[in-house]
Amino acid sequence: MEWLFFLLPIAAISGWLAARRHYKNQYIKQKSPFNPEYFKGLNYLLNEQPDKAIDVFIRLLEVNSETVETHLALANLFRRRGETDRAIRIHQNLIARPSLSPQQREQALVELGLDYMHAGVLDRAEHLFLELLSKASPPKEAYQQLLRIYQQEKKWQQAIKMAKEYQSHSKENIGSTIAQFYCELAEQQLKTSPNNVGILLKHAHSHDQNCVRATLLEARLHIRANNFRKALKSLLRIEQQNYQYIPEALPLMQQCYQQMNNLQAFSNWLHALLIKHPNMTNARLMLAHIIQLQHGSQAAQDYLYQQLHAHPSVEGLHSLISLGQPTNPMLVPLIKDITNTLIQRSHHYTCQHCGFTGKSMHWLCPSCNRWDTIRPTEIHLSSLETQLESSI
Ligand SMILES: [Zn+2]
Repeated sequence: MEWLFFLLPIAAISGWLAARRHYKNQYIKQKSPFNPEYFKGLNYLLNEQPDKAIDVFIRLLEVNSETVETHLALANLFRRRGETDRAIRIHQNLIARPSLSPQQREQALVELGLDYMHAGVLDRAEHLFLELLSKASPPKEAYQQLLRIYQQEKKWQQAIKMAKEYQSHSKENIGSTIAQFYCELAEQQLKTSPNNVGILLKHAHSHDQNCVRATLLEARLHIRANNFRKALKSLLRIEQQNYQYIPEALPLMQQCYQQMNNLQAFSNWLHALLIKHPNMTNARLMLAHIIQLQHGSQAAQDYLYQQLHAHPSVEGLHSLISLGQPTNPMLVPLIKDITNTLIQRSHHYTCQHCGFTGKSMHWLCPSCNRWDTIRPTEIHLSSLETQLESSI
Protein backbone atom coordinates (compact mmCIF):
# COMPACT_ATOMS: atom_id res chain seq x y z
CA MET A 1 0.00 0.00 0.00
CA GLU A 2 2.64 2.48 1.24
CA TRP A 3 4.24 3.68 -1.97
CA LEU A 4 1.00 3.77 -3.87
CA PHE A 5 -0.14 6.53 -1.55
CA PHE A 6 2.55 8.67 -3.07
CA LEU A 7 1.22 7.92 -6.52
CA LEU A 8 -2.39 8.69 -5.72
CA PRO A 9 -1.60 12.35 -4.96
CA ILE A 10 0.36 12.48 -8.23
CA ALA A 11 -2.71 11.15 -10.01
CA ALA A 12 -4.81 13.65 -8.10
CA ILE A 13 -2.52 16.53 -8.94
CA SER A 14 -2.41 15.65 -12.64
CA GLY A 15 -6.19 15.44 -12.52
CA TRP A 16 -6.28 18.73 -10.68
CA LEU A 17 -4.05 20.35 -13.29
CA ALA A 18 -6.31 19.07 -16.05
CA ALA A 19 -9.28 20.31 -14.10
CA ARG A 20 -7.62 23.64 -13.53
CA ARG A 21 -7.11 24.05 -17.29
CA HIS A 22 -10.74 23.17 -17.75
CA TYR A 23 -11.94 25.51 -15.05
CA LYS A 24 -9.66 28.29 -16.14
CA ASN A 25 -11.72 28.42 -19.31
CA GLN A 26 -14.90 28.60 -17.31
CA TYR A 27 -13.42 30.88 -14.71
CA ILE A 28 -15.01 33.98 -16.11
CA LYS A 29 -18.41 32.35 -16.04
CA GLN A 30 -18.18 30.57 -12.71
CA LYS A 31 -15.57 32.56 -10.79
CA SER A 32 -14.35 29.27 -9.27
CA PRO A 33 -10.66 28.43 -10.00
CA PHE A 34 -10.69 24.70 -9.12
CA ASN A 35 -12.79 21.88 -7.91
CA PRO A 36 -12.83 21.39 -4.14
CA GLU A 37 -13.54 17.68 -4.69
CA TYR A 38 -9.85 17.12 -5.48
CA PHE A 39 -8.89 18.38 -2.08
CA LYS A 40 -11.50 16.14 -0.53
CA GLY A 41 -9.91 13.19 -2.40
CA LEU A 42 -6.46 14.21 -1.30
CA ASN A 43 -7.69 14.48 2.25
CA TYR A 44 -9.00 10.91 2.14
CA LEU A 45 -5.63 9.79 0.80
CA LEU A 46 -3.76 11.57 3.55
CA ASN A 47 -6.08 9.88 6.06
CA GLU A 48 -5.26 6.50 4.46
CA GLN A 49 -8.75 5.90 3.11
CA PRO A 50 -7.97 4.90 -0.50
CA ASP A 51 -11.45 3.50 -1.22
CA LYS A 52 -13.09 6.82 -0.38
CA ALA A 53 -10.39 8.59 -2.39
CA ILE A 54 -11.18 6.37 -5.38
CA ASP A 55 -14.86 7.27 -5.07
CA VAL A 56 -13.95 10.95 -5.23
CA PHE A 57 -11.80 10.44 -8.33
CA ILE A 58 -14.56 8.46 -10.00
CA ARG A 59 -17.06 11.26 -9.33
CA LEU A 60 -14.63 13.79 -10.74
CA LEU A 61 -14.60 12.00 -14.06
CA GLU A 62 -18.08 13.32 -14.76
CA VAL A 63 -16.78 16.85 -14.26
CA ASN A 64 -13.81 16.43 -16.59
CA SER A 65 -13.19 13.62 -19.07
CA GLU A 66 -9.61 14.82 -19.57
CA THR A 67 -8.72 12.80 -16.50
CA VAL A 68 -9.51 9.45 -18.17
CA GLU A 69 -5.81 8.69 -18.77
CA THR A 70 -5.05 9.42 -15.13
CA HIS A 71 -7.78 7.04 -13.98
CA LEU A 72 -6.54 4.32 -16.35
CA ALA A 73 -3.01 4.74 -15.03
CA LEU A 74 -4.21 4.59 -11.45
CA ALA A 75 -6.26 1.44 -12.08
CA ASN A 76 -3.26 -0.21 -13.75
CA LEU A 77 -1.16 0.55 -10.72
CA PHE A 78 -3.74 -1.11 -8.48
CA ARG A 79 -3.81 -4.16 -10.75
CA ARG A 80 -0.04 -4.42 -10.77
CA ARG A 81 -0.10 -4.39 -7.00
CA GLY A 82 -2.59 -7.26 -7.06
CA GLU A 83 -5.47 -5.06 -5.87
CA THR A 84 -7.67 -6.17 -8.73
CA ASP A 85 -10.96 -5.33 -6.96
CA ARG A 86 -10.02 -1.64 -6.94
CA ALA A 87 -8.81 -1.79 -10.56
CA ILE A 88 -12.09 -3.42 -11.61
CA ARG A 89 -14.12 -0.74 -9.80
CA ILE A 90 -12.30 2.08 -11.55
CA HIS A 91 -12.56 0.45 -14.98
CA GLN A 92 -16.24 -0.43 -14.60
CA ASN A 93 -16.99 3.15 -13.60
CA LEU A 94 -15.04 4.47 -16.55
CA ILE A 95 -16.99 2.28 -18.96
CA ALA A 96 -20.29 3.55 -17.52
CA ARG A 97 -19.44 7.15 -18.46
CA PRO A 98 -21.32 8.28 -21.59
CA SER A 99 -18.75 11.05 -22.18
CA LEU A 100 -15.99 8.55 -23.08
CA SER A 101 -14.77 8.49 -26.68
CA PRO A 102 -15.11 5.09 -28.49
CA GLN A 103 -11.31 4.63 -28.29
CA GLN A 104 -11.25 5.38 -24.58
CA ARG A 105 -14.14 2.98 -23.95
CA GLU A 106 -12.37 0.25 -25.91
CA GLN A 107 -9.17 0.78 -23.95
CA ALA A 108 -11.07 0.65 -20.65
CA LEU A 109 -12.79 -2.59 -21.76
CA VAL A 110 -9.43 -4.19 -22.64
CA GLU A 111 -8.08 -3.11 -19.25
CA LEU A 112 -11.12 -4.52 -17.46
CA GLY A 113 -10.56 -7.82 -19.29
CA LEU A 114 -6.95 -7.80 -18.08
CA ASP A 115 -8.22 -7.23 -14.53
CA TYR A 116 -10.42 -10.33 -14.87
CA MET A 117 -7.45 -12.30 -16.24
CA HIS A 118 -5.39 -11.16 -13.30
CA ALA A 119 -8.12 -12.09 -10.84
CA GLY A 120 -8.41 -15.53 -12.48
CA VAL A 121 -12.05 -15.04 -13.58
CA LEU A 122 -11.32 -16.39 -17.04
CA ASP A 123 -14.95 -16.88 -18.10
CA ARG A 124 -15.69 -13.18 -17.58
CA ALA A 125 -12.48 -12.20 -19.36
CA GLU A 126 -13.35 -14.52 -22.27
CA HIS A 127 -16.86 -13.07 -22.55
CA LEU A 128 -15.54 -9.50 -22.55
CA PHE A 129 -12.78 -10.12 -25.12
CA LEU A 130 -15.19 -12.02 -27.40
CA GLU A 131 -17.48 -8.99 -27.29
CA LEU A 132 -14.57 -6.77 -28.33
CA LEU A 133 -13.98 -9.04 -31.33
CA SER A 134 -17.40 -8.14 -32.71
CA LYS A 135 -16.20 -4.57 -33.27
CA ALA A 136 -15.24 -3.36 -36.74
CA SER A 137 -11.53 -3.28 -35.94
CA PRO A 138 -11.00 -5.39 -32.83
CA PRO A 139 -7.98 -4.63 -30.63
CA LYS A 140 -4.98 -6.97 -30.96
CA GLU A 141 -5.01 -7.45 -27.20
CA ALA A 142 -8.43 -9.19 -27.37
CA TYR A 143 -7.07 -11.91 -29.69
CA GLN A 144 -3.92 -12.34 -27.66
CA GLN A 145 -5.75 -12.68 -24.36
CA LEU A 146 -8.31 -15.10 -25.81
CA LEU A 147 -5.41 -17.21 -27.09
CA ARG A 148 -3.91 -17.15 -23.61
CA ILE A 149 -7.22 -18.26 -22.08
CA TYR A 150 -7.74 -21.17 -24.50
CA GLN A 151 -4.11 -22.23 -24.08
CA GLN A 152 -4.44 -22.16 -20.30
CA GLU A 153 -7.67 -24.15 -20.43
CA LYS A 154 -6.28 -26.54 -23.06
CA LYS A 155 -9.23 -25.77 -25.39
CA TRP A 156 -7.18 -26.47 -28.49
CA GLN A 157 -10.02 -26.34 -31.05
CA GLN A 158 -10.90 -22.82 -29.91
CA ALA A 159 -7.21 -21.87 -29.70
CA ILE A 160 -6.75 -22.92 -33.34
CA LYS A 161 -9.84 -21.01 -34.48
CA MET A 162 -8.75 -17.88 -32.61
CA ALA A 163 -5.14 -18.11 -33.82
CA LYS A 164 -6.30 -18.37 -37.45
CA GLU A 165 -8.61 -15.36 -37.02
CA TYR A 166 -5.78 -13.43 -35.42
CA GLN A 167 -3.36 -14.37 -38.20
CA SER A 168 -5.70 -13.23 -40.95
CA HIS A 169 -6.59 -10.08 -39.03
CA SER A 170 -3.05 -9.03 -38.07
CA LYS A 171 -1.14 -10.44 -41.09
CA GLU A 172 1.38 -11.69 -38.52
CA ASN A 173 2.63 -15.22 -39.22
CA ILE A 174 1.95 -17.43 -36.20
CA GLY A 175 1.94 -20.69 -38.19
CA SER A 176 4.37 -22.43 -35.86
CA THR A 177 2.09 -21.73 -32.88
CA ILE A 178 -0.96 -23.01 -34.79
CA ALA A 179 1.02 -26.17 -35.64
CA GLN A 180 1.78 -26.68 -31.93
CA PHE A 181 -1.95 -26.34 -31.16
CA TYR A 182 -2.72 -29.03 -33.74
CA CYS A 183 -0.06 -31.26 -32.13
CA GLU A 184 -1.66 -30.75 -28.71
CA LEU A 185 -5.02 -31.69 -30.18
CA ALA A 186 -3.44 -34.71 -31.91
CA GLU A 187 -1.89 -35.91 -28.63
CA GLN A 188 -5.25 -35.45 -26.90
CA GLN A 189 -7.08 -37.44 -29.57
CA LEU A 190 -4.46 -40.18 -29.75
CA LYS A 191 -6.13 -41.71 -26.70
CA THR A 192 -9.77 -41.28 -27.75
CA SER A 193 -10.06 -41.19 -31.53
CA PRO A 194 -6.69 -42.10 -33.12
CA ASN A 195 -8.20 -42.21 -36.62
CA ASN A 196 -8.38 -38.40 -36.78
CA VAL A 197 -4.80 -37.89 -35.65
CA GLY A 198 -3.22 -38.23 -39.11
CA ILE A 199 -5.42 -35.44 -40.48
CA LEU A 200 -4.58 -33.16 -37.54
CA LEU A 201 -0.86 -33.67 -38.16
CA LYS A 202 -1.33 -32.81 -41.84
CA HIS A 203 -3.00 -29.58 -40.73
CA ALA A 204 -0.04 -28.92 -38.41
CA HIS A 205 2.38 -29.29 -41.31
CA SER A 206 0.24 -27.11 -43.56
CA HIS A 207 0.79 -24.26 -41.07
CA ASP A 208 4.44 -25.05 -40.36
CA GLN A 209 6.15 -27.53 -42.64
CA ASN A 210 9.12 -27.62 -40.26
CA CYS A 211 7.09 -28.68 -37.23
CA VAL A 212 9.28 -31.46 -35.79
CA ARG A 213 6.73 -32.35 -33.14
CA ALA A 214 4.16 -33.20 -35.81
CA THR A 215 6.76 -35.28 -37.69
CA LEU A 216 7.61 -37.27 -34.54
CA LEU A 217 3.91 -37.88 -33.87
CA GLU A 218 3.41 -38.94 -37.48
CA ALA A 219 6.28 -41.45 -37.12
CA ARG A 220 4.75 -42.83 -33.93
CA LEU A 221 1.43 -43.31 -35.74
CA HIS A 222 3.17 -45.29 -38.51
CA ILE A 223 5.07 -47.38 -35.95
CA ARG A 224 1.76 -48.17 -34.20
CA ALA A 225 0.50 -49.44 -37.55
CA ASN A 226 3.73 -51.47 -38.03
CA ASN A 227 4.58 -49.34 -41.05
CA PHE A 228 8.27 -48.87 -40.27
CA ARG A 229 9.28 -47.77 -43.75
CA LYS A 230 6.82 -44.84 -43.66
CA ALA A 231 7.85 -44.01 -40.08
CA LEU A 232 11.50 -43.85 -41.12
CA LYS A 233 10.68 -41.67 -44.10
CA SER A 234 9.08 -39.19 -41.70
CA LEU A 235 11.94 -39.34 -39.19
CA LEU A 236 14.58 -38.73 -41.86
CA ARG A 237 12.87 -35.40 -42.65
CA ILE A 238 13.79 -34.02 -39.22
CA GLU A 239 17.38 -33.36 -40.26
CA GLN A 240 16.09 -30.82 -42.81
CA GLN A 241 13.38 -29.45 -40.50
CA ASN A 242 15.69 -28.74 -37.56
CA TYR A 243 18.69 -31.02 -36.97
CA GLN A 244 18.88 -30.02 -33.29
CA TYR A 245 15.88 -32.25 -32.63
CA ILE A 246 17.53 -35.36 -34.12
CA PRO A 247 18.28 -36.78 -30.64
CA GLU A 248 14.49 -36.97 -30.10
CA ALA A 249 14.15 -39.13 -33.20
CA LEU A 250 17.07 -41.54 -32.63
CA PRO A 251 15.30 -44.16 -30.45
CA LEU A 252 12.40 -44.32 -32.94
CA MET A 253 14.85 -44.63 -35.84
CA GLN A 254 16.63 -47.50 -34.11
CA GLN A 255 13.29 -49.23 -33.66
CA CYS A 256 12.47 -48.84 -37.37
CA TYR A 257 15.90 -49.99 -38.65
CA GLN A 258 15.83 -52.96 -36.28
CA GLN A 259 12.34 -53.97 -37.43
CA MET A 260 13.49 -53.65 -41.04
CA ASN A 261 16.56 -55.71 -40.17
CA ASN A 262 18.90 -53.06 -41.52
CA LEU A 263 21.06 -51.78 -38.67
CA GLN A 264 23.97 -51.33 -41.09
CA ALA A 265 22.06 -48.58 -42.92
CA PHE A 266 21.45 -46.86 -39.57
CA SER A 267 25.15 -47.12 -38.70
CA ASN A 268 26.10 -45.54 -42.07
CA TRP A 269 23.58 -42.75 -41.54
CA LEU A 270 24.93 -42.01 -38.05
CA HIS A 271 28.53 -41.93 -39.34
CA ALA A 272 27.55 -39.41 -42.03
CA LEU A 273 25.55 -37.36 -39.48
CA LEU A 274 28.53 -37.15 -37.11
CA ILE A 275 30.73 -35.79 -39.87
CA LYS A 276 28.21 -32.95 -40.33
CA HIS A 277 27.50 -32.48 -36.61
CA PRO A 278 30.56 -33.74 -34.70
CA ASN A 279 29.29 -32.48 -31.33
CA MET A 280 26.05 -34.46 -31.36
CA THR A 281 26.75 -36.66 -28.34
CA ASN A 282 23.46 -38.52 -28.56
CA ALA A 283 24.22 -39.64 -32.12
CA ARG A 284 27.70 -40.80 -31.04
CA LEU A 285 26.24 -42.82 -28.17
CA MET A 286 23.62 -44.31 -30.47
CA LEU A 287 26.36 -45.31 -32.90
CA ALA A 288 28.33 -46.97 -30.05
CA HIS A 289 25.14 -48.84 -29.14
CA ILE A 290 24.64 -50.01 -32.73
CA ILE A 291 28.32 -51.12 -32.93
CA GLN A 292 27.74 -53.09 -29.73
CA LEU A 293 24.64 -54.75 -31.22
CA GLN A 294 26.50 -55.58 -34.44
CA HIS A 295 30.06 -56.34 -33.28
CA GLY A 296 30.00 -56.77 -29.49
CA SER A 297 31.00 -54.78 -26.40
CA GLN A 298 34.74 -54.64 -27.09
CA ALA A 299 34.24 -52.98 -30.50
CA ALA A 300 31.87 -50.45 -28.92
CA GLN A 301 34.40 -49.69 -26.15
CA ASP A 302 37.19 -49.21 -28.69
CA TYR A 303 35.04 -46.81 -30.69
CA LEU A 304 34.00 -44.75 -27.65
CA TYR A 305 37.53 -44.72 -26.20
CA GLN A 306 38.92 -43.27 -29.40
CA GLN A 307 36.01 -40.79 -29.79
CA LEU A 308 36.12 -39.48 -26.21
CA HIS A 309 39.56 -37.95 -26.63
CA ALA A 310 38.30 -35.64 -29.38
CA HIS A 311 34.76 -35.19 -28.03
CA PRO A 312 34.71 -35.51 -24.22
CA SER A 313 31.30 -35.86 -22.59
CA VAL A 314 29.98 -37.12 -19.28
CA GLU A 315 27.42 -39.24 -21.14
CA GLY A 316 30.13 -40.82 -23.32
CA LEU A 317 32.24 -41.55 -20.32
CA HIS A 318 29.26 -43.06 -18.56
CA SER A 319 28.58 -45.36 -21.53
CA LEU A 320 32.23 -46.40 -21.72
CA ILE A 321 32.32 -47.23 -18.01
CA SER A 322 29.04 -49.15 -18.32
CA LEU A 323 30.43 -51.17 -21.23
CA GLY A 324 33.68 -52.22 -19.51
CA GLN A 325 35.15 -52.95 -16.11
CA PRO A 326 34.64 -49.95 -13.78
CA THR A 327 37.96 -50.64 -12.01
CA ASN A 328 39.97 -50.82 -15.25
CA PRO A 329 43.19 -48.81 -14.50
CA MET A 330 43.51 -47.93 -18.21
CA LEU A 331 40.47 -45.63 -17.87
CA VAL A 332 41.81 -43.57 -14.99
CA PRO A 333 43.97 -41.05 -16.94
CA LEU A 334 41.18 -40.63 -19.48
CA ILE A 335 38.58 -40.04 -16.78
CA LYS A 336 40.83 -37.49 -15.12
CA ASP A 337 41.39 -35.66 -18.40
CA ILE A 338 37.70 -35.55 -19.24
CA THR A 339 36.53 -34.43 -15.81
CA ASN A 340 39.15 -31.71 -15.88
CA THR A 341 37.99 -30.50 -19.32
CA LEU A 342 34.36 -30.63 -18.19
CA ILE A 343 35.02 -28.53 -15.12
CA GLN A 344 36.85 -25.97 -17.25
CA ARG A 345 34.17 -25.84 -19.92
CA SER A 346 30.91 -26.37 -18.10
CA HIS A 347 28.38 -23.68 -17.35
CA HIS A 348 27.92 -23.54 -13.63
CA TYR A 349 24.75 -21.49 -13.58
CA THR A 350 21.43 -22.17 -15.29
CA CYS A 351 18.24 -20.10 -15.49
CA GLN A 352 15.28 -22.14 -14.34
CA HIS A 353 12.94 -20.00 -16.39
CA CYS A 354 14.55 -19.82 -19.82
CA GLY A 355 17.46 -22.25 -19.63
CA PHE A 356 20.17 -19.61 -20.04
CA THR A 357 23.53 -20.97 -18.87
CA GLY A 358 26.61 -19.03 -17.80
CA LYS A 359 29.91 -19.26 -16.04
CA SER A 360 29.21 -16.61 -13.40
CA MET A 361 26.32 -15.75 -11.11
CA HIS A 362 23.67 -13.27 -12.31
CA TRP A 363 20.80 -12.28 -10.06
CA LEU A 364 18.94 -10.83 -13.04
CA CYS A 365 18.83 -13.27 -15.94
CA PRO A 366 20.45 -11.54 -18.97
CA SER A 367 18.30 -13.63 -21.28
CA CYS A 368 14.73 -13.46 -19.96
CA ASN A 369 15.21 -10.50 -17.64
CA ARG A 370 13.78 -12.16 -14.54
CA TRP A 371 15.07 -11.92 -11.03
CA ASP A 372 16.19 -14.89 -8.93
CA THR A 373 15.73 -17.50 -11.63
CA ILE A 374 19.39 -18.46 -12.04
CA ARG A 375 20.63 -21.35 -9.91
CA PRO A 376 24.03 -22.96 -9.57
CA THR A 377 24.07 -26.09 -11.72
CA GLU A 378 24.78 -29.27 -9.83
CA ILE A 379 27.47 -31.34 -11.48
CA HIS A 380 27.33 -34.87 -10.18
CA LEU A 381 30.96 -35.85 -10.37
CA SER A 382 31.09 -37.22 -6.84
CA SER A 383 30.78 -40.83 -8.01
CA LEU A 384 33.61 -40.33 -10.52
CA GLU A 385 35.78 -38.70 -7.87
CA THR A 386 35.27 -41.65 -5.55
CA GLN A 387 36.33 -43.99 -8.34
CA LEU A 388 39.40 -41.92 -9.13
CA GLU A 389 40.46 -41.86 -5.47
CA SER A 390 40.06 -45.59 -5.03
CA SER A 391 41.93 -46.41 -8.28
CA ILE A 392 44.93 -44.13 -7.88
ZN1 LIG B 1 16.11 -16.67 -18.06
